[in-house]
Amino acid sequence: MPELRKDPTNNHWVIISAERANRPTHNNWRTTPAATAPCPFCPGNEDKTPPEILAFRPDGSKANVSGWTVRVVPNKFPALIMQSGLERRREGAYELINGFGVHEVIIETPEHVTNTAFLDEKQLANIFWVYRRRILDLKKDKRLRYIQIFKNQGVEAGATVEHAHSQLMALPMIPANVMAKLNGAKRYYRSKGRCVYCDMIRREMQGQARLVSESEHFLVICPFASRFPFETWILPKRHSLYFEYGSKQAYVDLARCF
Ligand SMILES: [Zn+2]
Ligand SMILES: [Zn+2]
Repeated sequence: MPELRKDPTNNHWVIISAERANRPTHNNWRTTPAATAPCPFCPGNEDKTPPEILAFRPDGSKANVSGWTVRVVPNKFPALIMQSGLERRREGAYELINGFGVHEVIIETPEHVTNTAFLDEKQLANIFWVYRRRILDLKKDKRLRYIQIFKNQGVEAGATVEHAHSQLMALPMIPANVMAKLNGAKRYYRSKGRCVYCDMIRREMQGQARLVSESEHFLVICPFASRFPFETWILPKRHSLYFEYGSKQAYVDLARCF
């Protein structure tokens, strides 16, 4: 049973999940017995994943068979699970929550492609549209406070299946680093009366030194205080708060930024 434990020295929440260690590896980056097993994310192997939550099926095919273009399934080895309900408790100085939350996998393409960069703009826009659909659905559950979609690219990053996929985690708390960013933006607004991100956009458009590209809706920049080489941010040019409320056209435009 996974747990969320708070580190009392810095208030960071950590997911403790022994179950995750049992994942088999389905990739060809290194030789393992599972590397030769059929890819669980390829069409025809839908029974190798838990039943789908959402899939785009332009041919009208039925659930959990081939015919999809993007497919969302629960993570077979979840770091968080919803079944048990949310329980907070204390053990002396320690605070913990049972591993309540959502952990899903978004299979980005039916082709056995190993890098999202190989997908065309139309498919990328489809993937963003699926992200939007999942966020809109999950945010109805008020016990969930934060939703993050992320990718582990390559075995060094922890990916155990090479077929291009993203992951979604929905958590019952806001992570400390996200909270710090929200508070930072609030402080900036209180002192200057302006949005910090809108100010950054204005500055980077003038200076151009850190500007990577610009499209109708987005600006791609390397941030002034980059934490690592090639760190890149994609910012919406219009002051907007929510990824999930973009127009269909905006997602197509976002796909072009990649
Ligand atoms: Zn595959
Ligand atoms: Zn703004």
